[in-house]
Amino acid sequence: MYFRFDLKAVLQFLKYAGNHKRLIFANFIFNLLYVLFQLISLMMIMPVLRFLFSKDHGNAQALSSKNFGVGHWFSDQYQHFITWFGQLAKGEPFTALAYLSISLVVVTVLKNGFRFLAMNFMVLIRNRSIQEIRQNVYQKCLDLPIAYFNNERKGDLMSRMSNDVKEIEFALMVSLEALYFQPLNILLFMAALIMLSAKLTLYILLFLPITALIIGLIGRSLRKRSTRNQELLGKVMTAYDETLGGIRIIKAFNAAHFFSKKYKEQDDAYTKNNIGVQRRYDLSSPMSETIGIGVSALLLWLGGSMVFRNELDPEFFLTYFAIFSQLIPPFKAFSNALYAAQKGIASLDRIQELVTAPVTVEDPIEAQVPVFTESIVLKDVGFNYLDGAKVIEGFNLEIKKGDTVALVGPSGAGKTTLTDLLARFYDVTEGGIFLDGVDIRSFKQDDLRGLIGIVNQENILFNESVRNNIALGMPETPLGAVIEAATAANANDFIVEMEHGYDTEIGERGGKLSGGQKQRLAIARALLKDPEILILDEATSALDSNSEKAVQQALEKLMRARTSIIIAHRLSTVIHADVIVVLDKGKIVEKGTHTELLEKKGMYFNLIQLQQLLSN
Ligand code: ADP
Repeated sequence: MYFRFDLKAVLQFLKYAGNHKRLIFANFIFNLLYVLFQLISLMMIMPVLRFLFSKDHGNAQALSSKNFGVGHWFSDQYQHFITWFGQLAKGEPFTALAYLSISLVVVTVLKNGFRFLAMNFMVLIRNRSIQEIRQNVYQKCLDLPIAYFNNERKGDLMSRMSNDVKEIEFALMVSLEALYFQPLNILLFMAALIMLSAKLTLYILLFLPITALIIGLIGRSLRKRSTRNQELLGKVMTAYDETLGGIRIIKAFNAAHFFSKKYKEQDDAYTKNNIGVQRRYDLSSPMSETIGIGVSALLLWLGGSMVFRNELDPEFFLTYFAIFSQLIPPFKAFSNALYAAQKGIASLDRIQELVTAPVTVEDPIEAQVPVFTESIVLKDVGFNYLDGAKVIEGFNLEIKKGDTVALVGPSGAGKTTLTDLLARFYDVTEGGIFLDGVDIRSFKQDDLRGLIGIVNQENILFNESVRNNIALGMPETPLGAVIEAATAANANDFIVEMEHGYDTEIGERGGKLSGGQKQRLAIARALLKDPEILILDEATSALDSNSEKAVQQALEKLMRARTSIIIAHRLSTVIHADVIVVLDKGKIVEKGTHTELLEKKGMYFNLIQLQQLLSN
């Protein structure tokens, strides 16, 4: 079999859908009614034929009991019906025909009404389950540690949220209905065929496996090639994309010929495969029609001979033929559904992988409440990112409450990583960080982060009002407090000049604001939170000197009476720090006050000289 079912994924999926048992039940009932009414509408050919062709217009011409088992019972019931109907129409052929026509319309309306209702419930099941999946993914993203979100992953996560969820919605959801509904359809139709003539059904069943095999083989090769087609087209697109990205280098190094050749190879492979797909696709329709007609011809011959031998009534036979011809679409739909489900399951796997990804930074089961009255101590701290070498090594530092500590050093030294460790965006891999002597891993992350305020280089603003951006995570904050914080951050002046003041929507990623304005909003946000510990990561680096002054003043207010950790590229901003820690390659090179370090004439001294040289 070419359908591999990942049972675990299917069960996971059923869990989502299974939360809507009532809707599923309703969908099932209406689908059942739909199939039954479809059968009834097909079987209405029988009395029509009877009244058209029998001379006495349906009056009790006893059907010989040529059937056995249920077939016999069915013939009897049918005979009763004809007798009753003949009386109802008072033996008038026109009346009978009129009744039958009206009934046909009524039955068809009901049939389609039921199908509509069934689909309607399916729409509800589909949307609610998919919404649940989407919500789970979103919620999970909020719970996952920062380490999970590197840059390559962001694209992948976006694609999971959009493409995979869509794929599940269309492939899996649509096919799930078909997977139970089509077999039901086939079963009920088969039952009807057996009732009409068990013998003929037995003959036909003998030929069915051969036909199924031929149709299956074509379908299989078509599917395999279509999947391959997607891969090959992907390669062509990648080649094109790579070329566009590197066009400057390709031209500069005269590599056009090489790339052109490489591209042609990819394109040739795709084109060849695509021709195969289209040929097979074009073949499948005439093939299945030919096979269909072949089987019908066989049925005609077998059934016709039974009619001649008086083993089957013509009207039974013609109805049989009509129902039989309606059997192929459900078979086709079922096999398509299997294929679609397989694709959907691949997507579901990817979603499940995300939803079950381990949360590596965990809250302890019995958490302590953090208190900060004395100091933060980093003891023998070591850290490496999942896939890399040590970026922090043997790091020891005590930060007294109220102190301002500056971290300086070349880019890549590990300054940001250190502050991330303090906020537990990552956990240390060696040693520990202690708040008043208690390991920060003993606190809930929310409690710990409640003590910390962060202002960094990229001032993340959200597509919300100015007010909500400042009072982030604290929607109950009164406007007065927000204004107070904004005023202290030198932001009030430009906010009130905005179109709707504090209610102005900021736009995606703060697009409407200048760098300095964004910075001051971020500072107002930190001021409002009023944290014990403040982390400023390159908070003034992206500013022109004009706005730097306003921001600098705001920052000074923010740092007053707080424990602050500053990372600054411009050393002029750190001279007043209580301790300056010079970092290189994850290790402390030297530490002390500005004056002490200058006297040492070490790395700090060199960095200062270098900056003075550059600014002159
Ligand atoms: P600094 O803030 O001093 O410029 P960082 O703390 O940002 O330095 O980076 C320290 C080292 O860790 C660098 O070598 C950097 O390449 C690496 N690094 C930073 N973030 C990650 C990450 N998410 N995954 C892997 N390596 C990282």
